[in-house]
Amino acid sequence: MKKERRKIEIRGIVQGVGFRPAVYRIAKRYNLKGSVFNDSKGVTLDVEGCPEDINSFLEELKKNPPPLSDIGEIRGEELPVKEFNEFKIIESEESEEKTTLVSPDISTCDDCRKELLSKKDRRYLYPFINCTNCGPRFTITKELPYDRKNTTMKKFDMCEKCRTEYENPEDRRFHAQPNACGKCGPHLELLNFKGKKLNGNPINKAIKLLKKGKTIAVKGLGGFHLACNAKDIKAITILRERKMRPYKPLALMAKDIPTIEKFVEVSEEERELLMSPRAPVVLLKKKEKCSLPDNIAPNNNFLGFMLPYTPLHILLFEKLEVLIMTSGNKRDEPIAFDNRDAIKRLEGIADYFLIHNRDIWMQADDSVARIVDDEPLLLRRSRGYAPQPIRYPIWNEKKIIGFGAHKHNTFSISRGDEIFVSHYIGETDNLETIKAFERGIEHFTNFFDIPPDIAVVDLHPAYQATKFGKKWAFDNNKPLIEVQHHHAHIASCLADNLLDEKVIGVAWDGTGYGEDGNIWGGEFLVADLEGFERKAHLQYIPLPGGDIAVKEPWRMGAVYLYDIFGDSFRRLDIDFVKTLDKKKWLYIKTMIDKRVNSPLTSSIGRLFDAVSSILGLRSSISYQGQAAIELEMIAKEDEHEFYKFDIIRNTNTYIIDPKKVIESILEDIKKGTANGYISMKFHIGLAEMIVGVSNLLREETNINKVCLSGGVFQNMVLRKEATQRLKKQRFEVYNHSKIPPNDGGISAGQVAIAMRRVK
Ligand code: ZN
Ligand code: ZN
Ligand code: FE
Repeated sequence: MKKERRKIEIRGIVQGVGFRPAVYRIAKRYNLKGSVFNDSKGVTLDVEGCPEDINSFLEELKKNPPPLSDIGEIRGEELPVKEFNEFKIIESEESEEKTTLVSPDISTCDDCRKELLSKKDRRYLYPFINCTNCGPRFTITKELPYDRKNTTMKKFDMCEKCRTEYENPEDRRFHAQPNACGKCGPHLELLNFKGKKLNGNPINKAIKLLKKGKTIAVKGLGGFHLACNAKDIKAITILRERKMRPYKPLALMAKDIPTIEKFVEVSEEERELLMSPRAPVVLLKKKEKCSLPDNIAPNNNFLGFMLPYTPLHILLFEKLEVLIMTSGNKRDEPIAFDNRDAIKRLEGIADYFLIHNRDIWMQADDSVARIVDDEPLLLRRSRGYAPQPIRYPIWNEKKIIGFGAHKHNTFSISRGDEIFVSHYIGETDNLETIKAFERGIEHFTNFFDIPPDIAVVDLHPAYQATKFGKKWAFDNNKPLIEVQHHHAHIASCLADNLLDEKVIGVAWDGTGYGEDGNIWGGEFLVADLEGFERKAHLQYIPLPGGDIAVKEPWRMGAVYLYDIFGDSFRRLDIDFVKTLDKKKWLYIKTMIDKRVNSPLTSSIGRLFDAVSSILGLRSSISYQGQAAIELEMIAKEDEHEFYKFDIIRNTNTYIIDPKKVIESILEDIKKGTANGYISMKFHIGLAEMIVGVSNLLREETNINKVCLSGGVFQNMVLRKEATQRLKKQRFEVYNHSKIPPNDGGISAGQVAIAMRRVK
């Protein structure tokens, strides 16, 4: 049989996932000779053997790739036969363009878990056990290619046993870069709040302290968690007070699925997502009788659970059942990930610190997801997902960077047809977050070796991300594109659904800078990536005090009533009016009348605030969207009636007038209708209004596809009602799944728009 030699280049997530050993094993099975090596483009094979064997080998590799790999593209080229006499794995080399990828961080695999808990194993109870199929990746990698010397494991010299595993292609730890054992690898320490080391077994001691109600900062994969006993109402109260976070739901970690099922409902899909190697926090419906304290997620029907995803977590949960595991940060600051920094920044919050000396290079918060219609929806895309790219069927030679929005910030960089969405950065309104933002961008651009060619920013001149992006473009002498916020939302929904055409875009959120200088947020666009037309929006109303009005929903309640009834709203016989602070109202009324610090807004988020406050649910908030979330949570889904919005034609656009809705709500309040029914009628009313406007726009444009995007579509009641009702009218409806509908998706939308616009 005639021999053939082929050079085969494979791209995708093929490094740090056991790809070369898999190639090695399969090549040996088919009696192929030659070599395999990582380069900065991915993995390259130089194989020799009979053509059938090479083909079968490739088939096998495609059919059974290593579990964490993602083969993007395979290119082959024939070479003159060289008569190799063995098959070997060659060490990494560096090349011009670093186009390879690094895998996200992966939860501990079953094999490692077994060894961790097996008395016979040499890594028994070793909290940093890992292998090619699991462990830290993105968070420890300083630069590419992914090799031990480019990770924070560089400082640990492997002992003889570890090195033998590392060098043996038949071993599960072959080239597992973070490979280590108790003899040669990182170790744990327990410190008190002053940073003083405590003697004894750190894990056993930590377990005892947690049981006693103490708060411990635990260093994980992508940063610190603040942990406390989730069954201890007092411990949770103390943690909330120290974190100045009275209401925002806290994430939980539980020992296993049966434990989680004690407290919440878990469907088949939810179980799968919880147990996936990405191990996100999954939002799950509380059971009727949930024995966990209410102050974990007050006024909320859901609890966010995740499973232990590092060996350290597994060891803690050997003797614990369920813990609060919230991000280790001060309110609104980014997650702490460096030992010294954590001790400084979490002073006064944590009683103890469970730390280790494997450094985290890039922070990554826990990802947050839920299952909707049997599919995962990512609300925060970070650990376990970043930096895996989203492939979009548009090719652009230029690398594009999108700097994102203000809240839930992420940034994105495109290369070819891939969009790399960064880990979660957070609220870019404090110095710590801006530092994390800068550092993240520097890190990513370093991954890609050269700075991107084009910068994209939000239209809002005051966003820190916009200012930073403008400066970046100026400093690097690159062209700058400004994109309107809601256009970016719709573009992110297009990218999420791999669409590239004109759609009816429903972009609803709290705040976004409009082209007319007003604050948009209840928008119907007819849009594609090239551009958009604003076809309909919620009627403008003043936002007295700007950002303060966002934190004080009662202002919006009063503004809407004042808008409808004028001063006589003060005579309305409802609790909201009766308990209104007269002095404060007069102050706000003056602001509105004199148009001082009262920008106009068409935000649906603010309409939610108004309704929530008029119903007496929430007059001021302590976390974003609180008033709207609490209104959603009480909605009685057995209600089928709804409030009707007026849709008024105004030359080329439609204005949506909520006056009748508010009036009907007041009537229902007087009739004594329960808030839960009022809430549902409001939700269905919004969904029906979406259908109504979409019908008008379909008549006008013949477009039948509707994209639902923006933070408001995190509201599951609204999303469900709108989707079902649109489908009944034969619309094709597109929702988010891989890219968050909130502002965490803005950077991906910005990049998608530029990918199409830049020729
Ligand atoms: Zn493993
Ligand atoms: Zn070792
Ligand atoms: Fe937004």
